[in-house]
Amino acid sequence: MAEKYSAVFMDRDGTINEEVSFLSRMEQLKLYPQSGEAIRLINAAGMKAVVVTNQSGIARGYFTEDFVRGVHDRINELLGAEGARIDGFYVCPHHPIHGQGIYKQDCECRKPKPGMLLQAAREMNIDLARSYMVGDMLRDVQTGKNAGAKGILVKTGYGMNIVRTDMPSCIAGDILEAVQWILKDRKKE
Ligand SMILES: [Mg+2]
Ligand SMILES: [Zn+2]
Repeated sequence: MAEKYSAVFMDRDGTINEEVSFLSRMEQLKLYPQSGEAIRLINAAGMKAVVVTNQSGIARGYFTEDFVRGVHDRINELLGAEGARIDGFYVCPHHPIHGQGIYKQDCECRKPKPGMLLQAAREMNIDLARSYMVGDMLRDVQTGKNAGAKGILVKTGYGMNIVRTDMPSCIAGDILEAVQWILKDRKKE
């Protein structure tokens, strides 16, 4: 059997693009200036670059699943111009309380549950124990831990306000610092 990949799982809003609270119009999409280089480094290291994002705005009726797919196509278009690519996007469209219709459910994919990481691991042949989850909320860090990966907090987006520092494996200024830490951490193993 071929060797498994390791992955950098990334939250989307506040981690690779600006947090705007329920991104619902394409013109609100602004990648952070460090994201292209960060993701290019992940690609070059032979790791999988995977976005895992809670989008309860779908459940709340603020925007559609199609809109979110369009945003992700656009993210890869913008990254492509910088020689970088996301290998997979995983989306939780649910909310246990504020959801409408089929989207109102206590699902297994909404972070901090590890469902999206487990699914990606199956579909993309990823070894979670050698993988990392980067995000701007402690919920993202917890998601990584719940999947058996290492969690890294970035101080962009909501991460700017977080003062508790005991939980993540690393606290990084932004996605590029996080990836630089990951590449060093991998060499130790
Ligand atoms: Mg976020
Ligand atoms: Zn879900």
